[in-house]
Amino acid sequence: MELKKNIDDIMEDIKKYSPNPSKVQLIAATKYVDYSIIKELIDIEFFNFGENRVQALRDKKEKIDDERVKWHFIGHLQKNKIKYIIDYIDLIHSVDSLSLVKEIDKRAKAINKKQEILLEVNISGEESKGGFSPQEIIENIEELKKNENLMIKGLMTMAPLTDNKGEVKLVFKELRELKDKLNEEYFKGQLTELSMGMTNDYQIALEEGASLIRIGSKIFH
Ligand SMILES: *Cc1c(COP(=O)(O)O)cnc(C)c1O
Repeated sequence: MELKKNIDDIMEDIKKYSPNPSKVQLIAATKYVDYSIIKELIDIEFFNFGENRVQALRDKKEKIDDERVKWHFIGHLQKNKIKYIIDYIDLIHSVDSLSLVKEIDKRAKAINKKQEILLEVNISGEESKGGFSPQEIIENIEELKKNENLMIKGLMTMAPLTDNKGEVKLVFKELRELKDKLNEEYFKGQLTELSMGMTNDYQIALEEGASLIRIGSKIFH
């Protein structure tokens, strides 16, 4: 594994494709690797990691207790597992329902934390996919905004599985436009983050204004 080279290549792409490269962060999606590989990344001063399963995150966090690391949660989060990650998770990208929003707020309140989250949006409307529809966010906007122990930092989406680049680009563009609209009408610019783009589509996501790209295969394979 050429970890350093793979990271450097992605960093080059950030400069090449993003209209605002200094605002972009690369999150390494670590589901494919164990803690020893994460340690190799830390050794080259890379600190942003995203996990999609609570148990795997707990195991890795236990082995890697390093203050410099930022832990991101990027998978479907079950309500009964929030308690295992709430005290150290930096950003939860995948908040996909109003009931999960409320439960995270409650858990954050209990430990006196202001938890940063993103709302996951199902832009393409695929049945198999979780997340809010744009309409649902707008319909529930007051319920979403009133949680005192949450800070909604932006939106996250997954592109549809397709080779059609135009379709993927449209999904990312629609997420950006939704963020801009929500900022203008309800959030006064509080939404600064767009988490979109994985190994196969991150260049397109960067072009459309991604600020957090979540990449696994391209780093670890
Ligand atoms: C695995 C995963 C990624 C990274 O996927 P790759 O295609 O391997 O880059 C990004 N986001 C989520 C939510 C994931 O589960």
